[in-house]
Amino acid sequence: MYSQAVVLFLCAFNVMSATADDTCPPIVSRKEWGAVPAKSVQPLSKNPPPYVVVHHSASQICTDEESCKRYVRSVQHFHMDIRGWEDIGYNFLIGGDGKVYEGRGWGIHGAHDKRHNSVSLGVSLIGNFQETEPLLIQLETLKNLLECGVNTNRIQKEYRMIGHRQSTPTLCPGEHLFDIIETYPHFYDGPN
Ligand SMILES: [Zn+2]
Repeated sequence: MYSQAVVLFLCAFNVMSATADDTCPPIVSRKEWGAVPAKSVQPLSKNPPPYVVVHHSASQICTDEESCKRYVRSVQHFHMDIRGWEDIGYNFLIGGDGKVYEGRGWGIHGAHDKRHNSVSLGVSLIGNFQETEPLLIQLETLKNLLECGVNTNRIQKEYRMIGHRQSTPTLCPGEHLFDIIETYPHFYDGPN
């Protein structure tokens, strides 16, 4: 009896304390990975965005927080100092450790897909998925991040998911990852 009561109490407590944000995966913040400040920040022209653009980083996979943080810093350096962009191009990155790394974050204009930068959330899975399969944990995190985005009204409910290669001549997000996202319910293969 006692344990049943405890279980009931805990369930009720969870329901009462649940907020939409509870569905969100933890995000390694810019501060935590050691980002430098963006040169400028521009909001999306459509927010919440109607598109999600999936990328790969076309690099080696990172499998622990330290190496993923180091890699994300190197991407920011490349995008800002070599490419001359305002900030790291993506809104979020997902490491082989299954963690989300904050790029530009929610609601911010990206630099990852010319045709959708102002109307999409750009998410890059770290690794080269032309050569290898993404890790299951990366796919689970992607799913959780997008569910969180919809639940917290930071992505449109009926969003369209595309791979970068659908709007730009590129291999990105790699054959293996593209084959997977093609099976997702929000995948969109119409004109972009
Ligand atoms: Zn891409």
